[in-house]
Amino acid sequence: MEPPEVIEEFKHFFENNCLGDISNAASFFEVDFNKLSKWNLDLANELLDNPEETIKAAELVVKLFDSTKEKSISAWFVNLPNTQHRNAWEVRKDDIGKMIGLKGIINKSTSIIHICASAKFECPVCGNIINILQLDSTFKEPSKCGCGRKGKMTLLDKKIIDTIKLGLADDLMDKDNIDRSIAREKISILSGKDLTSHQIDKRIKPGRKVILNGYFKYHQKTNSTEFDSIFQVNSIEFLQVGWDTVFINNKVEKSIIELAK
Ligand SMILES: [Zn+2]
Repeated sequence: MEPPEVIEEFKHFFENNCLGDISNAASFFEVDFNKLSKWNLDLANELLDNPEETIKAAELVVKLFDSTKEKSISAWFVNLPNTQHRNAWEVRKDDIGKMIGLKGIINKSTSIIHICASAKFECPVCGNIINILQLDSTFKEPSKCGCGRKGKMTLLDKKIIDTIKLGLADDLMDKDNIDRSIAREKISILSGKDLTSHQIDKRIKPGRKVILNGYFKYHQKTNSTEFDSIFQVNSIEFLQVGWDTVFINNKVEKSIIELAK
C-alpha cells in the first residue's frame, strides 16, 4: 500500500471505530488488531509488514481527530494474531522490521531515562540545517556539510525523549518453553511518553508477564560494523500468570490423577 492510501484507510477506520476512544484518551488508546483486520485486511497486513511507517501514519491521522490538539495520543495496536507472537529465543532475522508480539517476563526495568533522540545542527558557512538521529549512547555530530565544510557545526536543538529500558526473560512455564532450562533475555527499549506515563510505569515491574508489541530495528554502532538490535515498543499487554497458563500434556495429567487417588 502507498502511504497516502494508508492514511486514507486509517481515516475511515478511526472515524467509524475509534472516535470515542480518541476523545477519552489521556495519552493512548487501544486498537484491536482483530477488529482492524476485519475492517481492512490490507491495512492490517501493512501494519504487520511495515510497522514503523504504518504506525507513524496512524498517529498522523489520530492528530486530525484529536479536538484538543494539545495531547499527543498514540495508537496502541494490541491483540496481534498468535502467528506473530515470539519468545525472545524464537526471534530470527526474518522477524526484524516486522510487527511482532514479544512474550516474556519482565526481569529488569530502569526508571525513566531521558535520551536524546535527534539533534539539529547548522553549518556556519552555508546555513544548511543537518538533522542527526541519535540512536545509541554516543552523541553523534555531523562531520561535514554538503557545501564541503568539514569540522564543528553549530548545535541548534536537541529532541529529548523519555524511555524505559526493559529486560525480558522467557517464561519457562509457557508450553513453547517447556524443554528449555535457561531463560534468555533481551533488552528492549520503550520509547514515547505514553509508555512512561505514570499509569503504565506503575505496572511495569519485574515478574510481570507481558506481550510487548512492536518491532526490532537494527542500529549501526558508532565507528563500528556491528549492529545493535533495539526493540521499539508500540504497546504493552499485561498477562495474567495463573494455573491456566501451565501446560500439562495428557500423560502427565493421567499420572497426576493416578497420584491423587
Ligand atoms: Zn555548509
